[in-house]
Amino acid sequence: MTPSPTPRLPLSRSQNRWGKLGLGLLLLPALLAPAPALAQDPAVPAFRNREQVSNYTYGNLVRDIKAGKVSKVEIDPNLEKGWVTLKGQAPEAAPETVRLFKNNPELIELLKKSKVNWGIRRTPDNSALLGLLTHLVIIGALIGLVVMVIRRSANASGQAMSFGKSKARFQMEAKTGVGFGDVAGIDEAKEELQEVVTFLKQPEKFTAIGAKIPRGVLLIGPPGTGKTLLAKAIAGEAGVPFFSISGSEFVEMFVGVGASRVRDLFKKAKENAPCLIFIDEIDAVGRQRGVGYGGGNDEREQTLNQLLTEMDGFEGNSGIIVIAATNRPDVLDSALLRPGRFDRQVVVDYPDLEGRTKILTIHSQNKKLAPEVELALIARRTPGFTGADLANVMNEAAIFAARRRKEAITLAEVNDAIDRVVAGMEGAPLVDSKSKRLIAYHEVGHALIGTLCPGHDPVEKVTLIPRGQAKGLTWFTPDEERALMTRSQIIARIAGLLGGRAAEEVIFGADEVTTGAGNDIEKITYLARQMVTKLGMSSLGLVALENEDSANYLGGDWGKRSEYSEEIGARIDQEVRWIVDAAHREALRILEENRALMDRLVDLLIDRETLEGDEFRQLVGEFQDKPLAGAAK
Ligand code: ADP
Ligand code: MG
Ligand code: ZN
Repeated sequence: MTPSPTPRLPLSRSQNRWGKLGLGLLLLPALLAPAPALAQDPAVPAFRNREQVSNYTYGNLVRDIKAGKVSKVEIDPNLEKGWVTLKGQAPEAAPETVRLFKNNPELIELLKKSKVNWGIRRTPDNSALLGLLTHLVIIGALIGLVVMVIRRSANASGQAMSFGKSKARFQMEAKTGVGFGDVAGIDEAKEELQEVVTFLKQPEKFTAIGAKIPRGVLLIGPPGTGKTLLAKAIAGEAGVPFFSISGSEFVEMFVGVGASRVRDLFKKAKENAPCLIFIDEIDAVGRQRGVGYGGGNDEREQTLNQLLTEMDGFEGNSGIIVIAATNRPDVLDSALLRPGRFDRQVVVDYPDLEGRTKILTIHSQNKKLAPEVELALIARRTPGFTGADLANVMNEAAIFAARRRKEAITLAEVNDAIDRVVAGMEGAPLVDSKSKRLIAYHEVGHALIGTLCPGHDPVEKVTLIPRGQAKGLTWFTPDEERALMTRSQIIARIAGLLGGRAAEEVIFGADEVTTGAGNDIEKITYLARQMVTKLGMSSLGLVALENEDSANYLGGDWGKRSEYSEEIGARIDQEVRWIVDAAHREALRILEENRALMDRLVDLLIDRETLEGDEFRQLVGEFQDKPLAGAAK
């Protein structure tokens, strides 16, 4: 049986190799998954062979040899090919090629017999070479992978590789697109800073009469009150570029990096003058030098020194103004606050009622509000909110409205948004159970004391719908913009906070009290301690026994200092206990006297989940048959 080299036969060996290599390359990106033995598949189309098949077949060769037409045959076992020179062929004509098998004993036999001139031609066995290549590619890919991983981790671990290059970390905005119109509620600060715009726009107005233009302005205020916004607005109004960097960007692991960043920043700014440099959280670099545990921080000091040098360095009219922001002015190095540096200090405070209304107006401009939504009313509900909180409320309200598929934001969405911003996400209501009843008594206890104790803020609502960490909540409406609190008001608040625990005691007994009062008790202790140690509201007299909260171990202060003897310390604790005990007794008394009312309110609350303040007061009033404090509000 003579095998005929027809295309139907399995692929030749060398082609198998190529097939595998091709596959290998394809699969490399997929991390060298084991290559399926596709090349072995006999179903692989035979046309791959086409180019190598000439019309001259093995059969032709055998026939020609037998007929004595062949003058020379060369065989290459590796390529499985033969070259046949026929007799009488022109010398320059190419020999016929013919496909052969790896071993051709019959052919060789025949050649010997016919005395044809034949030989073996060996092309180098590139199958071995191909195998080597495949491996090289795989190894190369692996090395590449390892290098990539090493680079990544090097990048992540700081500037180890680019040490000293000081990547500029500041942002530059050619136009901030923010104006004073986008800032509301902090009018004093705005007025003060209006002047800075003039410094930037028309410095000659001041320099002409010999006035030096201030170099730095320090914005002081709690987070979210609009300090960054204000700085951007100044740049926007003056039409100058805005360079910003956060103080924490200066603080690096390596000494000198922060200082070189400061240099870079000022260099860039000088190229772009007039312009405004904004340094956020300057307390990160600007803390007092040479204090704090561990004797200070070289890197921070160098950075600060560089900053001071740069600020001293520019001429009076170079057109650069530095604005820095902080919420901890007390820890700043006094050298920063010296004239010629941040000598102007502008306080950016919490907005008042009118300010909040204006901020809400700004942040509802691009939102659809239902006509009944009165921004002044929302502002009334949100004392102590910053501009950022209010912006957040309006945004949450818009999200609620979209989720509820409403055409516009209604009061319900705004109220939910406020609750969410204050107390966290709403949870699913509890199922009726003993613990729900317990929570209801706890909350009604708060609300009832809040309503019956003179001087307490009025109840806004009581709810059993969990929110954030709380299982139930009693909201009070804080007295609008109350600047001061009286002693009896603080005591009333302590009693109100104790109302929850007191209710548990009255109804379930002292052994059945719960952990639900933990948070209340924390606040009570804080309030009572303040009365004794700071506000002079106890028999210890008018002495301040404690500093501003100074738990600050990063420098700037020497940790918490106690300014009193142990004996006084013991008396403070005693005074605190007396205040709390008195309030506790008062709360117990009120709740015991109103036991029946409490039961009724709890039943109603469990039924309805939420009771509004007005309704609550009305129920209490009906029951007691006398007018109530706070009901007028
Ligand atoms: P801060 O820098 O004081 O922490 P931001 O300036 O970053 O506060 O304020 C954050 C966002 O809150 C602002 O982008 C803005 O949308 C809003 N916001 C804060 N304060 C005000 C304000 N007074 N008027 C208008 N929007 C404000
Ligand atoms: Mg900011
Ligand atoms: Zn409570």
